[in-house]
Amino acid sequence: MDHFNYKDQQLFCENLSIKEIVEKVDTPSYIYSANTFKHHYEGFQKAFAPLDPLICYSVKACGNINIIKMLSEMGSGFDVVSGGELFRVQQGGGDSSKVVYAGVGKTDAELLQAIEAGIAFFNIESEAELENLIRLSQSVNKQVHGALRVNPDVDPKTHRHTTTGKRGNKFGVDIERAQKVFKDYGNNDWVKLSCIHIHIGSPVYTVDPYVSAITKTLELIDTLRKQDFTISSFIIGGGFGADYLTGQSPSAADYAKEIVPLIQNKNLKLILEPGRSIAGNAGVLITKVLYTKQAGDKKMVIVDAAMNDLIRPAFYDGYHFIWPVSVDKKFEIDHRSQDIAIEGTQTVDVVGPICESVDFLAKNRALPPLKRGDLLAVFTAGAYGFVMSSQYNARPRAAEVLIDDKDVNIIRRRETYEDLISHEK
Ligand SMILES: *Cc1c(COP(=O)(O)O)cnc(C)c1O
Repeated sequence: MDHFNYKDQQLFCENLSIKEIVEKVDTPSYIYSANTFKHHYEGFQKAFAPLDPLICYSVKACGNINIIKMLSEMGSGFDVVSGGELFRVQQGGGDSSKVVYAGVGKTDAELLQAIEAGIAFFNIESEAELENLIRLSQSVNKQVHGALRVNPDVDPKTHRHTTTGKRGNKFGVDIERAQKVFKDYGNNDWVKLSCIHIHIGSPVYTVDPYVSAITKTLELIDTLRKQDFTISSFIIGGGFGADYLTGQSPSAADYAKEIVPLIQNKNLKLILEPGRSIAGNAGVLITKVLYTKQAGDKKMVIVDAAMNDLIRPAFYDGYHFIWPVSVDKKFEIDHRSQDIAIEGTQTVDVVGPICESVDFLAKNRALPPLKRGDLLAVFTAGAYGFVMSSQYNARPRAAEVLIDDKDVNIIRRRETYEDLISHEK
């Protein structure tokens, strides 16, 4: 469910037509729906309610401080992967004591910043990192809590670039090694190892990989407890799917149905780190058609958004449904599907202006006939969209706009040419 729907042949975000919003903010722009964010956050909260989990929204999916503020006001904690993201959480008014911090290469400065902030858990990704964290917390005389990130060696059946819990990935320690880590460090006073963390990849469109990873990890927790180590919390990461196509992804309730019974009555505080599943279809990227042309036997639609704005198609073969913002009656659709069998569509590539052959948003896509000036919506662009944008080809980054019912909030203004060179003087 999201709040991007057609009414009278116009795409709306909540109660405003996109066309009207674009008149104020121009293109390319990311347009987010506040109530879609809220809906997804509440979905997790309700579905996992029997475990009273702490939901730590993953900042790297979409980290504007206004998004952080909105989720923080709903009680969300945050999953961060850098000192910069922790800074974002603090600037957005997030509660540092509800922050978990993952990442294989935390620097001393970042670790000290997080110790100072009093975060909930450091996700420990190696013994070398753990030793460094012990040294640093001792140096400032502050005790911290560690969550050992284990690699449960499961295949989440997702893109090879986004698999993180299979043997040989750079993340965490092998699950067999975890007992040795507890034997060596489990009674350390500076870093209290009291939690196990897993994160298997993203997006994971089936529940099974979670069930296998959780089952394996619960066996480890059992073994550790028998050895008198106190394990009070369990972080099961993110990776829950978002609907790039209608109905593609299990809902929070579908995941919970199988996960909750596994963890119930285990005396474990559950922490979830959803990012994509909360932000994904809460955002669209709006772009304008510049030109159309024929190249060989292909029809090209050249638009004003490019891989610097949205890199997922080039980077991960990411699929984004694309449809015009204003449509004829027969093209007014209420589903997003790979096969659009509507008479009158044409098969086209949607490409950007950047001087790279991989600069495309879509290939071989059925779209209604398009002309210069038409607006296109690139759906499910809220997660790993703006945050991965760059200024490549000296293109100022897009604006970010948050819509709440009929309110338009420009939460990041479009960059200017001056912004491009502002650090070079
Ligand atoms: C990226 C990340 C997440 C969020 O993943 P999504 O696919 O956006 O849900 C959660 N936990 C960790 C440790 C991550 O690195």
